Amino acid sequence: MNKKILCSHCEQDWLELFMTRISKEPFHMCPECESIWLEGQDVHDDTEMYLGEFLESRGISWDGITKCTT
Ligand SMILES: [Zn+2]
Repeated sequence: MNKKILCSHCEQDWLELFMTRISKEPFHMCPECESIWLEGQDVHDDTEMYLGEFLESRGISWDGITKCTT
């Protein structure tokens, strides 16, 4: 069973699991507001991290991440 987690930042969409292609670092992202939660962060709490900051901090761009399919 895959339980859906509502984005606690915008409450407009469900979180999806992504990972970086090279380092395989998993993270959750809201497709609506692009808020992200790193592994170990509580996805039920609001986050202050956005995809743009994350990509910049990892030195990668959009094509450096991929959606995890389970
Ligand atoms: Zn959101």
